[in-house]
Amino acid sequence: MRLQGKVALVTGASSGIGAAVAQRFAAEGAHVCVNYRPASDRDRQAAESAVAAYPTPGIAFQADVTRREDVDAMVAATVKAFGRLDIAVANAGIEIKRPFLEATDDEWARVIGVNLFGGYATAQAAARQMVAQGGGGRIVFMSSVHEDIPFPGYTSYCASKGGIRMLMRNIAIELAPHGITANDIAPGAIATPINQSVLDDPESMRNAVSEIPLGRFGRPDEVASVAVFLASDEAAYVTGSTYYVDGGLTQQVTMY
Ligand code: NAP
Repeated sequence: MRLQGKVALVTGASSGIGAAVAQRFAAEGAHVCVNYRPASDRDRQAAESAVAAYPTPGIAFQADVTRREDVDAMVAATVKAFGRLDIAVANAGIEIKRPFLEATDDEWARVIGVNLFGGYATAQAAARQMVAQGGGGRIVFMSSVHEDIPFPGYTSYCASKGGIRMLMRNIAIELAPHGITANDIAPGAIATPINQSVLDDPESMRNAVSEIPLGRFGRPDEVASVAVFLASDEAAYVTGSTYYVDGGLTQQVTMY
């Protein structure tokens, strides 16, 4: 058990990669706060039934990561339940496909709000708690290959993930004296609801897979295994880094 006795929170954990990360953390012995978005009853049910099935006690917590008060309340609820916070995974994310010339301010604000402000607020609230309690900590951002690779039609998404990369690199330095590490995971194409339109369209799938040297989409659990490593004591000397989980996509990119 690589996370025995640790306390973790994972944002956007009612589906996809976040759900897989939370499940793996619990399987590795961590107490996990599974965050879900307030907008959806389906998310609440998914989060609560996931937590009920974990081998380690956890909590499901409703919070919108674009709201500072929600994020602070999520950290406070985790500490109230389990006494401390050792690991934070800023995973919640959205994307909106729109050509740059047609993109609206509202779409820009929504994507930057969830992906970049949400990551910032989650990391800051978690780090404040980690510093106050002492003993270090782990912050992991669910970034994307698009923290580095352009993706026409997804300018706000790429800007948000590029921002996460610099946020992560800066706080890795600022938090190092406290023994807190910060790293990015950059998934490529992973089979989750965010990619449903591609997964449902055989031609889009063929095009997407043709860009991936390993010849398939990744699975959420293949991202979760890297998150376990970065959250564990084994990664004590890893900070300020991006870990690509992309089947080689970034080595052969023309973008689907
Ligand atoms: P997903 O299943 O859609 O998961 C995203 C999660 O974030 C959902 O649970 C969503 O809740 C939640 N969320 C959205 N807005 C939120 C908010 N304001 N507050 C709290 N939670 C919110 O997609 P995924 O693929 O697992 O994505 C997880 C992360 O991986 C994202 O940051 C994404 O950018 C990143 N990523 C994914 C891929 C991929 O190929 N799948 C590739 C690179 C990076 P709702 O279900 O209610 O919307």
